[in-house]
Amino acid sequence: MSKAVSPGCAICGRPVVAEHRPFCSARCRRVDLGRWLGESYRIPAAETDDPDEDDELPRPDGPGPDGPERDER
Ligand SMILES: [Zn+2]
Repeated sequence: MSKAVSPGCAICGRPVVAEHRPFCSARCRRVDLGRWLGESYRIPAAETDDPDEDDELPRPDGPGPDGPERDER
């Protein structure tokens, strides 16, 4: 893979520096990271729309007093 296809920094479009790929500098990298964080911040994290919250199902307690295994002598 000697062909280095570098379309340019995703932030400013300058030639990408291998050290800071895929950006041209650490600064642009941080800008990109900030964008990501900003995006995630926009999403309301308090939105609990989980259908899997139904975790309080009454489950059988194994063999109860009327279990199949009785200690009958
Ligand atoms: Zn850049």
